[in-house]
Amino acid sequence: MSILIQNGTVVTASGTLDANVLIEGEKIEALLTGDDTVPDVDRIIDAAGQYVLPGGIDVHTHMEMPFGGTFSADTFETGTRAAAWGGTTTIIDFAVQAKGTSLLATLDKWHAKADGNCAIDYGFHMIVSDVNDTTLKEMDACIAAGVNSFKMFMAYPGVFYATDGEILLAMQQASRSGATVMMHAENGIAIDQLVAQALAAGRTDPVYHGLTRPPELEGEATSRAITLAKVAGCPLYIVHLSAREALAAVAEARDAGQNVFAETCPQYLWLSIDDLARPDFEGAKFVASPPLRPKDHQDSLWRGLRTNDLSVVSTDHCPFCFKDQKELGRGDFSKIPNGMPGVEHRMDLLHQGVAAGHISLPRWVEVASTTPARMFGLYPRKGVIAAGSDADIVIYDPRATRTLSAATHHMNVDYSAYEGMQITGRVVTTLSRGSVVIDDGEYLGRTGHGTFLARGLNQYLL
Ligand SMILES: [Zn+2]
Repeated sequence: MSILIQNGTVVTASGTLDANVLIEGEKIEALLTGDDTVPDVDRIIDAAGQYVLPGGIDVHTHMEMPFGGTFSADTFETGTRAAAWGGTTTIIDFAVQAKGTSLLATLDKWHAKADGNCAIDYGFHMIVSDVNDTTLKEMDACIAAGVNSFKMFMAYPGVFYATDGEILLAMQQASRSGATVMMHAENGIAIDQLVAQALAAGRTDPVYHGLTRPPELEGEATSRAITLAKVAGCPLYIVHLSAREALAAVAEARDAGQNVFAETCPQYLWLSIDDLARPDFEGAKFVASPPLRPKDHQDSLWRGLRTNDLSVVSTDHCPFCFKDQKELGRGDFSKIPNGMPGVEHRMDLLHQGVAAGHISLPRWVEVASTTPARMFGLYPRKGVIAAGSDADIVIYDPRATRTLSAATHHMNVDYSAYEGMQITGRVVTTLSRGSVVIDDGEYLGRTGHGTFLARGLNQYLL
């Protein structure tokens, strides 16, 4: 099957280009401009007036993730389908090591969940929650199996929490093999005290989830993670950075030449603690960790995206339904499952940042696709429209307008965090390895089309 995408504006991380994109099978064959002869093809897609983008890469999702006795509501099947609707053609999800189990058995378990169920391509990071000699040795085996990024937690004592010593050991191991350590940087030990104090004082509403996790404790943990990574000599990637205090720590380390990177998420750019404070338990819809911050953090985050102190935007997609799941925390905010839906809306919400002048058009592509591919060893197979790359392509209408709503989204969750938000822009067509998955409001994909991506090492080191 050969396809020619004609008359569109190809957007890359470095600029725009009027070119036709020729696809042969699963790969991009060539970019054709001006006088190049147009070959005979099986299908022509007219992209006049539209952007032609490399497919989005969301490096932070949690499909059917176990959390506090329940599971996040999207399966790999429903979640990857929703991603495709939103112009994302690759996800990297997290395999979650339970205490007392091995990393390789964990990886097998996650392969079994995803294999044959995904509409788009996928990879895995490994969450290390039990640091011991066996686990440390297994990190190398994970790398050989195409999983070379290891996430650790300074939050959630008793669950995923790792001590500074454990973090240092894992970082030293990562440093020997070139792997990247990803960090959930919040001081969970201090947070637990604030949570206990709030509950003892009868402060049980969702907003206290935010008020007991102050930005200073994200800043402190981020600084500590950076220091540990410096001592161990390993690349560090801060996940879901939400606070300006944390951003300042990342910027300082980067200015000093340390391999420290960070991502933020659309919810921290567009929502705030005011949403967590919505009455009648509505705030529970916005409970995620780190929490939504006061609005004045948003400008700092947009600036971080411009200066590249924030290099990636992911979603931390971890949906829990309002009914029966979020409701577990009525009367006790600490029992509200942590996480928000978002995998479908990342490209659109970043496009709103383009429309509002926060970031440029090429920067949108860079933080949503190209840098994620480089950061996690997928480039140039993914993240770029170039000859030889996978034909993961999104045709985007920058002028369409619509309203986000749970009534029209495709994620398997009963609410939208962006209910009623008017946006400009719409995914018209999504191709995954040359196959049309979404076309003009129709899902044409196939469960099981998506394949596992064995990734290389970080290609974005300073
Ligand atoms: Zn997460």
